[in-house]
Amino acid sequence: MPSKQRKIAMMGYRSVGKSSLIIQFVEGQFVDSYDPTIENTFTKFIRLNSTEYEVKLVDTAGQDEYSIFPLQYSMDFHGYVLVYSITSSKSFQIVQIIYDKLLDMVGKIHVPIVLVGNKTDLHLERKISTEEGKRLAEKWKAAFVETSAKRNESVTDMFHAILSEIERSDGHMPEK
Ligand code: GDP
Ligand code: MG
Repeated sequence: MPSKQRKIAMMGYRSVGKSSLIIQFVEGQFVDSYDPTIENTFTKFIRLNSTEYEVKLVDTAGQDEYSIFPLQYSMDFHGYVLVYSITSSKSFQIVQIIYDKLLDMVGKIHVPIVLVGNKTDLHLERKISTEEGKRLAEKWKAAFVETSAKRNESVTDMFHAILSEIERSDGHMPEK
């Protein structure tokens, strides 16, 4: 059977760990400083629930409250990973802004999304509780995972979660 192709965008405020999560998942290593301006696409083949997937992960340079939602990210994507850092309230506000813009742009009520609270290893600097993250994801009807790219905690779970979310919505591209 040919593998199912899945294209996923990683979005979120700068410095939350978008690139680190992808590199940990694809290459199995933690890179301490990765050029924040690079927008790369990474490919990984994975097997999940006896299905073979070719996963294309599109890293973005990051968004802020002033960013216009990039038109190219509103098309051709099966799902979105919205990342904040549990150490940054600002990054938690930004995912909500990105979410609103995303829904406006995609023009569809249900978009496969996983909300990710990264940097759980920095528990002393935690600003956003697990409950707050969960509550936001429930409001969105999205999946929720807390991760540490640094310690490789729940990174695989998080990418499996977005594939499951896409599967639930049947893997169709959003209709315009
Ligand atoms: P991006 O701008 O969202 O792509 O963020 P990066 O992946 O470049 O990470 C920004 C900074 O946070 C870098 O210094 C990373 O090493 C660090 N970082 C990323 N993930 C984690 C994590 O899980 N724990 C800790 N302690 N640092 C992290
Ligand atoms: Mg980056």
